[in-house]
Amino acid sequence: MTQRVIVSGAGIAGLATALRLHRAGWDVLVVERAPARRSSGYMVNLIGPGYEAAERLGLLPGLTERDLGVFTSILTKADGREKFKVPAAVVQAAVGKRAMTVFRGDLESVLYEQVRDIVTIRFGTTVQAVGQNGDEVQVDLSDGSSERADLLVGADGLHSGVRELMFSPGTDFKVDLRHLVGAFPLSRVPRDIPDGASTTFIGPGRTAAVINLGPGRSSAFFTYRSDDPAAELAKGSAKALNAAFGDLGGAVPDALRQVTADAYFDSVSQVVMDTWRNGRVVLLGDAAWCVTLFAGYGAALALNGADELGAVLEEHGSNVSAALTDWETRLRPEVLKRQALARKGTAQFAPPSQAHVWARDLVMRAIQLPGIRTLIQRSIQRANQ
Ligand SMILES: Cc1cc2nc3c(=O)[nH]c(=O)nc-3n(C[C@H](O)[C@H](O)[C@H](O)COP(=O)(O)OP(=O)(O)OC[C@H]3O[C@@H](n4cnc5c(N)ncnc54)[C@H](O)[C@@H]3O)c2cc1C
Repeated sequence: MTQRVIVSGAGIAGLATALRLHRAGWDVLVVERAPARRSSGYMVNLIGPGYEAAERLGLLPGLTERDLGVFTSILTKADGREKFKVPAAVVQAAVGKRAMTVFRGDLESVLYEQVRDIVTIRFGTTVQAVGQNGDEVQVDLSDGSSERADLLVGADGLHSGVRELMFSPGTDFKVDLRHLVGAFPLSRVPRDIPDGASTTFIGPGRTAAVINLGPGRSSAFFTYRSDDPAAELAKGSAKALNAAFGDLGGAVPDALRQVTADAYFDSVSQVVMDTWRNGRVVLLGDAAWCVTLFAGYGAALALNGADELGAVLEEHGSNVSAALTDWETRLRPEVLKRQALARKGTAQFAPPSQAHVWARDLVMRAIQLPGIRTLIQRSIQRANQ
């Protein structure tokens, strides 16, 4: 008999789950809170297991067309003047051939194109209540309907509603890393940056990056440390980002003038849970294990998690409980590794002091030396095994 899954969230984790479970023979209903598809514009890297999961899910042909490739990074001083350049060829040699950089929205679009005709997606709909009796979950939705399924997947991101409903209501599993992140597409191409290049300013406690990949493909990214992220969020993206970066020169002032109300602006929190399962309800992606942008690995883990979920459900057939236990055991070591790396990564994006900035500059300059480049290439490959 065909088994049925309800997936909450149509982001990368939710759409990848929908695709993989459909392939495993499941009937899939996706519910998404947003009224329509959105595609916001920061970049994600797919390397190592993330690239391989994209390959297994059959996404590479669609993604290759949208691959942004590697670009020259220009490290700048606060006034925007160049400190030094890391040429695209050096970055390419460091990451290798089986790697891709795409806009998050493009990855979502490629997934959406694969599932739009084969699964049902209800936009503007959320999960309101969940009951379960061992063999079945009953889900009440905000459109007034009630649905029955063999499995409910909460792929509804960092602020997951399914997590709130089904995993110790009132317990906040978020661990605040005390940083803010803002990322948004630029409607005007940055004038002060050569085509196919980015400028990055890294100073104590903050990073500002602006990327010129031409019309419709340029974007800006900001992250900074704060002792009171909630107060920063309350200011709103434009005010908070202008206060934190308004003193910088180069391409930053024009980028700050382009912050829109729907820019991605959030505090940086990991989600840390002892288990991602409760009976026939399971969390996947940022809802379960958000590793944060400092890991550069959230999309990869979402794709891999969805692909593995399909694989274990195929292996265990109707024994959903055994499949979920197996799935969690397989994924947890990689998630713990990425969360630990992300916590260390905060110092890369928001160095604690000027001395850390100088030390980082030395490493970046050294990347251009052939011997050091090989060492760094090996270390990137080891981290992505
Ligand atoms: C600036 C930045 C840079 C990043 N860079 C990288 C990178 O280089 N590499 C990488 O691998 N990852 C990166 N990531 C992380 C990556 O984007 C996410 O980890 C990944 O997209 C997985 O997200 P998700 O689908 O689990 O959640 P989300 O993308 O948050 O999607 C959740 C979906 O659920 C919906 N939703 C929310 N609440 C509800 C509800 N109650 N009911 C129904 N639907 C709901 C949302 O509207 C959304 O569509 C980055 C993240 C940021 C912020």
